Amino acid sequence: MSGVNKRVLVTGGAGFIGSHLCERLVERGEDVLCVDNYFTGSRANIAALLGDPGFEVLRHDITFPLYVEVDRIFNLACPASPVHYQHDPVQTTKTSVHGAINALGLAKRTKARILQASTSEVYGDPVEHPQREMYWGNVNPIGLRACYDEGKRCAETLFFDYHRQHGLDIKVARIFNTYGPRMHPSDGRVVSNFVVQALRGEPITIYGEGSQTRSFCYVDDLVEALLRFMETPVGECGPLNLGNPAEFTIRELAELVLRLTDSRSRLEFRPLPSDDPRQRCPDIRRATGLLDGWVPVTPLEEGLARTIAYFRIALGLGPARTLV
Ligand code: NAD
Ligand code: UDP
Ligand code: UDP
Repeated sequence: MSGVNKRVLVTGGAGFIGSHLCERLVERGEDVLCVDNYFTGSRANIAALLGDPGFEVLRHDITFPLYVEVDRIFNLACPASPVHYQHDPVQTTKTSVHGAINALGLAKRTKARILQASTSEVYGDPVEHPQREMYWGNVNPIGLRACYDEGKRCAETLFFDYHRQHGLDIKVARIFNTYGPRMHPSDGRVVSNFVVQALRGEPITIYGEGSQTRSFCYVDDLVEALLRFMETPVGECGPLNLGNPAEFTIRELAELVLRLTDSRSRLEFRPLPSDDPRQRCPDIRRATGLLDGWVPVTPLEEGLARTIAYFRIALGLGPARTLV
């Protein structure tokens, strides 16, 4: 891949996806600046990179302006789990919208190429299935998820307007549910919840009947796609769906986690949160075409096994005999 020794800014670089992305960029020899306010990220996520001469970290909130010199910007800063983004919804919208304006202003001044981590949530509770990029979505603008969904939709609007109005070199990635090591154990998302609950022998909390579906992408596959997308020709702006099209019900996920952890946790059914999408699955044909045949290569079972191995250590349980 091209791009040796570029100055690359990763906002949200101490988070789950951001830390894996920083790692890959440093491995590739780039000069990486990680910017994070540690709202949901942590120093532990980037600890292994801290001594590397190609890596620098700045504690900063991207709702405030940032003046640095860079060639590439990955804009990932934003809490991503419903529990975290609903904790301070006004700040969530500010992070998406003011954060995008500042990142775009920075890209405009430095003439940097800029990639936005958008989300499948822009499709809301989709009435089209699987979701293609031309689908406009079905979002409740005043619901509990709106701070995230509408914030990300507005950020997409800003990216395309900066592109049309100021000629910015933009890339908009719509990321679908991604999981893997370094998810926050109390982040509230389904994979981390189920794995932690199974390992601790606590009840597995299924919201609703567990018949809603999601498509889970292992983090390494997603990061590979982000890196490839960033290096596509000028004018390939997206939006581009990135995710794993293998679709599972939440109940199937629970049963797989129980089997892989060899856990005796029971299933506990809880009320479905409001505006919870019933089905989600990406159509990734556009990404496969643009990104040199990219497709996710990690099956759910394998990615879950690696994630479980990580959480065993993170929770102080030590490695399992049957795993890894
Ligand atoms: P995460 O919460 O682990 O990472 C987000 C990072 O942004 C954290 O390190 C957090 O501290 C930082 N941050 C939050 N607000 C900030 C602010 N105002 N200024 C600076 N830093 C700030 O979540 P993640 O799963 O790694 O998600 C990364 C990006 O990918 C997000 O933009 C998210 O919306 C997007 N995304 C993730 C998924 C997924 O399934 N993980 C799906 C779709 C989109
Ligand atoms: N900005 C920034 N870093 C820069 C340049 C701009 O953070 O290097 C911010 C600044 O806060 C500005 C915003 O980005 O308000 C949008 O920049 P733009 O040039 O579009 O607008 P203007 O400067 O006219 O407000
Ligand atoms: N979910 C669940 N139990 C949990 C956490 C989540 O059943 O402990 C469900 C949730 O209602 C949703 C799906 O799992 O239908 C995915 O939730 P997550 O928060 O991971 O992501 P998102 O809803 O943003 O896709």
